[in-house]
Amino acid sequence: MTGLGRYYRAMDTPDIPARDRRAALDRVATWIDRYLDDSERFPVLSPVKPGQIAAQIPDRPPEAPEPLPRILDDFERLLLPGITHWNHPGFFAYFATTGSTPGVLAESLMAALNVNAMLWKTSPAATELEQRAVDWLRQMLGLGAGWFGVINDTASVTTMLALAAAREARPELDIRRRGMAGRADLPSLRVYCSEHAHSSVDKAVITLGLGHENCVHVPGDDAFRMRPDRLDAMMAADVEAGRLPLAIVATVGTTSTGSVDPVPAIVDVAARFGAWVHVDASYAGPAAIVPECRETLAGVDRADSLVVNPHKWLFTPQDCSAMFTRRPEVLKRAFSLVPEYLVTGEQDAVVNLMDYGVQLGRRFRALKLWMVIRAFGVSGIADRLRNHMELARRFASWVETEPGWVLAAPRMFSLVCFRHAPPGLSDDAADALNQRILDRVNDSGRAYLSHTKLRGRFVLRLAIGNLRTEERHVAEAWQLLREAAQAG
Ligand code: PLP
Repeated sequence: MTGLGRYYRAMDTPDIPARDRRAALDRVATWIDRYLDDSERFPVLSPVKPGQIAAQIPDRPPEAPEPLPRILDDFERLLLPGITHWNHPGFFAYFATTGSTPGVLAESLMAALNVNAMLWKTSPAATELEQRAVDWLRQMLGLGAGWFGVINDTASVTTMLALAAAREARPELDIRRRGMAGRADLPSLRVYCSEHAHSSVDKAVITLGLGHENCVHVPGDDAFRMRPDRLDAMMAADVEAGRLPLAIVATVGTTSTGSVDPVPAIVDVAARFGAWVHVDASYAGPAAIVPECRETLAGVDRADSLVVNPHKWLFTPQDCSAMFTRRPEVLKRAFSLVPEYLVTGEQDAVVNLMDYGVQLGRRFRALKLWMVIRAFGVSGIADRLRNHMELARRFASWVETEPGWVLAAPRMFSLVCFRHAPPGLSDDAADALNQRILDRVNDSGRAYLSHTKLRGRFVLRLAIGNLRTEERHVAEAWQLLREAAQAG
């Protein structure tokens, strides 16, 4: 067939013919259905070596079309061995997450609709549902009215947008118009966070051109929480030196230990210096949905912005990061720019999501948050979160009562930091031993944990966040850990 002939044939059936599509959809649905029931049949951590997957994929794209069944065969045969199964009940690394059934259904529908929610007009339901779904989340978190929310891809981007808004909140700096380079009139703009804050704060400072040296890491206390007295002193010293305290990022649920910075005291300090307060509750925020954990977000109602990631501990597939601000007009001032081709008649009467960030195009992420909240209900979500915290509490109690094992930080939410520290072993030798324990457990394919360093020492982390994790999975991880420790 000539090139032209093939072209005309493609034009007859531009997408995949209906019969083939139906068979492929059925096959994918069957595969997903089985996977969600027994992802345990796979090793949780992929055992492949670097380059092993790429070596099996042709380095040139196929010239001719390939049948969907063959492509799906290759998905199973070539790619699955290189998947680390975040949706496995033995996944305890980083912050464990869940692609839940309502979330998976929503992702499929989102892909089929392929909506771009950049403007209200380009899909009114996407914008209006986003406003509703984030407002549901606000209420679930126990926050007062007056917060405006949008959904971004990640907490990293949300934090960067929040810090850009903090900068815009100082109109006298005129940075949107004049930039920062080559300006002798600009003081150093300082952003404060705890020494345990996520690296996304540093990256946001770097990206915004504030200079990494202006990301100030405030020491934490014995329980890894930012010390407001030190914050206050560091901000005062900066003012004394002619620097401008721009913003504070408080963390509710730090990455290493889940510690919670004292937001009420931090907000008080911020008020003295006129600094913006952004709260990174991307992991632990959902705990506030559990009635007896409402205090998790104490003081946040006096902050300027907040990030909570439904894609972490709220059973929503990657990616879904809820950004809230009490000052949406400032965020909009930082980012709104409407070229002629995006002007619409109703733009003054509606929310156009493109006005609240860098990106123009936006996925219909609200669909999955809405479906997750409806399918589990607020009380069902609270029950599931409570169960995760109870499992973590049990695991922590096993560690505490086992000779030679210690908790390395207070158990927070669904996260436990611990370490094998047999008496008589030096700290350095214990570090190496814990690394070996971690590697052995992860090599087993039955559980996957990650690590951090606390006070310079290697510490194991077990984070519970997958809906399918039961006590037996946590018990198996504990068994594997003790066996690995015995192997030395
Ligand atoms: N903030 C905290 C406290 C985190 O633990 C993480 C990631 O684990 C992030 C921010 C970054 O999240 P994202 O991957 O959504 O950018």
